[in-house]
Amino acid sequence: MQPGPRLVGKVAIVSGGASGIGAETARLFALHSAAVMLCDSNAAAGERVAGEIVAAGGKAMFRPLDVCDEDAWTALVAAAEKSYGKVDVLANIAGISGRDPMMNIQTGQTAGPRLAEQSLANWNQVMAVNATGVFLGTRAVIQPMQRAGGGSVVNISSICGIVGSHSNAAYHASKGAVRIFSKAAAIQYAPDRIRVNSVHPGFVDTPMTKPGHANPEVAAKRLEATPLGRFGTPADIALGCLYLASDESAWVTGTELVIDGGMTAN
Ligand code: NAP
Repeated sequence: MQPGPRLVGKVAIVSGGASGIGAETARLFALHSAAVMLCDSNAAAGERVAGEIVAAGGKAMFRPLDVCDEDAWTALVAAAEKSYGKVDVLANIAGISGRDPMMNIQTGQTAGPRLAEQSLANWNQVMAVNATGVFLGTRAVIQPMQRAGGGSVVNISSICGIVGSHSNAAYHASKGAVRIFSKAAAIQYAPDRIRVNSVHPGFVDTPMTKPGHANPEVAAKRLEATPLGRFGTPADIALGCLYLASDESAWVTGTELVIDGGMTAN
């Protein structure tokens, strides 16, 4: 894709910017002329992605962030405003599956403990990163976006925020929270021209899904459930984020953009 004018003059914060969907979204936003502040708990990878964007002629900087840390969000947003003058876009993309890395991904239960065996600690961790992190990030940009005269918040949920499965119930609950939180925030801040939407990816090839997709049995099951017959790429999702971040979606708020190869149409 050639550089385009879709985010000219915009300042974007991208959480989860070190890897997978977040890294691709940061790259695409920069390619479309946004100044991008990437943040992630993985500092080495985040610095690398920001460095690549700058080397390619884009505008980007990286700051480490734990999305569960309230004060760190305040500091990060202040740093973005100080460096780039304002904040127009926040893409809340950081997330975890909550899967036990030691768990054998062989059976129908592909991404976490069954409910009866689920620990409170696992539940709390998944909710903290995937749901509370989105709340904290969104809250932190409200005032800067009001100062900027409006803005766009893009919250990554999942098809797991719309339908259930054998997977980790905490993951489903956290992504469902992101979906409905986005609608409530959209209504509260529509008068300030701050738009809030959620994005719902299906199965996308990233480091998060690598353990599952490396297992031929799991991969075959997931592909069979995906009418378009392939896994998504990070770019498939980043392109949806680009639309919601840009002024092309000026009349779109409180909606859910499903990008899943047709899986939930079934
Ligand atoms: P990924 O490659 O694992 O990227 C997630 C990034 O978030 C990683 O860099 C991770 O850092 C970071 N992160 C985790 N906890 C964090 C925290 N507390 N604070 C800041 N950063 C943190 O996964 P992905 O597949 O691109 O996922 C991106 C988003 O899409 C997630 O919200 C995920 O739930 C959602 N999603 C993915 C799929 C899919 O099929 N891949 C489908 C639906 C939805 P570490 O590496 O250090 O953990």
